[in-house]
Amino acid sequence: MGKVSIALRGWRFDEDDVFTDEGELRPLDEMDTDTRERIVRLSVVAGQPCDACWLIHGDANIEQCNVARIVYGEPLHEVVLCADHEPDFLYWFRERGGADLTNRPSEFEDDFYAWFDDGNRAPEDYGGMEYVNTDPDDVPRPQPDVDMPTLEEELAKLDDEDLDALDVDLDDLDIDDPDDGDDDVPDDSRLGDLDV
Ligand SMILES: [Zn+2]
Repeated sequence: MGKVSIALRGWRFDEDDVFTDEGELRPLDEMDTDTRERIVRLSVVAGQPCDACWLIHGDANIEQCNVARIVYGEPLHEVVLCADHEPDFLYWFRERGGADLTNRPSEFEDDFYAWFDDGNRAPEDYGGMEYVNTDPDDVPRPQPDVDMPTLEEELAKLDDEDLDALDVDLDDLDIDDPDDGDDDVPDDSRLGDLDV
């Protein structure tokens, strides 16, 4: 059973949990709760600015923020990052205590933001040795291709209460279109067991 990322790199799903044999997204109510929450949150955070960029530029200069390509953390306490700032996150996670907070989701995100906002960064070229991201702007693509309209349809079927709990604004779905897919998504399987 393969692991796949959808829309953003980072969170990984068992392929069979999220796709039918035909490669269609499964109905959300057939997914287990954790998977469903992550899929729904992906529909919210995909297309949003990198959190680290935002800490630097703020709403006033939001256009200077890179679009996030990677998601870590737990649903509703996600940290979303661009490729430029992923090394900072990984350094914080591995070397500055982030890994100890994986069971405390809100502290997890807050601690990273505080650490980053204090001006802390990964050492130069940290992370480059982990894997090479050949093109920072390469959009991580769904594998197999996700028909995101299907996701919107599925979201429409969910109870409003569920959607409220996950902070979904159906009018604000902003999901990157998968373009012609090749398979060159970096292998981040090492992070899979972080469950971040
Ligand atoms: Zn960034």
